[in-house]
Amino acid sequence: METIKRIIGEYGTGKEGPLLFVTAGIHGNEPSGIYALRRVFEILEEEKPDIKGKIVGVSGNMEALKKGVRYIDEDLNRTWTEENVDSGKKDSHEKKEMFDIISVLENVSKESSSKRYFLDCHTTSAASEPYISVQEVNDNDDWAHHFPVYIIRGFSDIVKGCIDHYESRIGVTGFVFEGGHHESTEAIAHHEGMIWLALRHAGMLDLSSLNKYPEAAKFLEEKRNHRKTFEIEYRHGLEEGDDFKMQEGFVNFQAVKKGEYLALHNGKKVHSEWDAFIFMPLYQKQGNDGFFIVKEVAQ
Ligand SMILES: [Zn+2]
Repeated sequence: METIKRIIGEYGTGKEGPLLFVTAGIHGNEPSGIYALRRVFEILEEEKPDIKGKIVGVSGNMEALKKGVRYIDEDLNRTWTEENVDSGKKDSHEKKEMFDIISVLENVSKESSSKRYFLDCHTTSAASEPYISVQEVNDNDDWAHHFPVYIIRGFSDIVKGCIDHYESRIGVTGFVFEGGHHESTEAIAHHEGMIWLALRHAGMLDLSSLNKYPEAAKFLEEKRNHRKTFEIEYRHGLEEGDDFKMQEGFVNFQAVKKGEYLALHNGKKVHSEWDAFIFMPLYQKQGNDGFFIVKEVAQ
């Protein structure tokens, strides 16, 4: 990707209202949300609709985005621990980017004392339905259930140091949104749709006031009747240097049966111990999570 700026766009008309803080490309191999933000800001700048509050779109791992890699020194979605943030140490490339993003959020937060929302845009290495990953703190889960897609609870509770952990900790309401497969055009449309719907559900923008109701928002809204809520049952963690090979052909939320052959880990076959659903099967080289098992729960 070409060199990108930290702030992809900011739009407000000076009217009091919420802040929507959208991050994209926290993983450098996931530029989809950046394209979606550009599209949203293009329309906002062109039409200048009436809006309450402000939307700010921010790029994540700028150096990794430029190089098209997931990260440089360490995963930028694992650095946001209390310890790292409190220490102020910028001893890796990602920590420098982390503190830069924190200062952008602090600056835009100074402008208003209204409600703050975040939306963190990602994509997955395997084909997937778009889904929300929500940490069950504050009013995150209620906010997530305004949206028409699959919802995963508890991911951030297992994997520490995610940006949504940090944002929730400082009282910003929101979730992570996985738009689909890394390279898919649908993922860009899903991210765009989600940004529009977040503006709408935050009471910031009446989407029908736009010259054309955004197709991407309509497209996402059509999924509402099929929405499900899942909880994490199991994480198959990987250690540095492990040899891990997921069996071919798994897609996110695919049903798996007890005894089903899932992966080869350091030469040993891994079989499912559950009748449940597979989540985030790893089909790329970098990453600490082989796969997850999730179960459907009541909404
Ligand atoms: Zn990601």
